[in-house]
Amino acid sequence: MRAKALLLIDLQNDFCPGGSLAVPGGDEVIEVANRMQQHFDVIVATQDWHPADHGAFAANHEGKNPGEFIDLHGLEQILWPVHGVRDTPGADFVKELDTSKLTHVIRKGTDPQVDSYSAFYDNGHRKSTGLSDFLRQQGVHDVYILGLATDYCVKYSALDARREGFSTYVIEDGCRAVELKAGDAQAAIEEMRHSGVAIIHSGQIGL
Ligand SMILES: [Zn+2]
Repeated sequence: MRAKALLLIDLQNDFCPGGSLAVPGGDEVIEVANRMQQHFDVIVATQDWHPADHGAFAANHEGKNPGEFIDLHGLEQILWPVHGVRDTPGADFVKELDTSKLTHVIRKGTDPQVDSYSAFYDNGHRKSTGLSDFLRQQGVHDVYILGLATDYCVKYSALDARREGFSTYVIEDGCRAVELKAGDAQAAIEEMRHSGVAIIHSGQIGL
């Protein structure tokens, strides 16, 4: 059988209004995430799950501020406010998210030396999270993605899903962007589309 998977990217308190790295309108996608689940055989949620000493946090680099770039063990790294620290309320799933049907949870960004935007690999593409193998074992060919944020973790997850050979769909109304620069969201959408990712609307699912 040709199973379909839904990936729910980083639907965590820190990425919603009131959180330390709040994505504008981030809470608005929870309703979409809950509504979509009934249409999928396999549902995987990701969580940023950083140690407090993570190298992507500006606070861990003397004199640096969020938004500045550094070299983190050979990779260009934008510095973020402290967020998604494991075992803290900020890293918890938003309480309105229905987690009762989750098949699997991927916790990423656990290595303090490298960031991990994608649900599949760290940013250096060195270490796999095991998600591709998991999805293949479940007979998944089609991967649908929504969550936070369009211009980072959604984008990198979608590009990796394509690269791993899955038919990949991003549910645009189920995503919101950080938009450090105006236009980042649109650029991310174009980059995904250019790489063979279909950009769709939640209303197209289950028709
Ligand atoms: Zn993070």
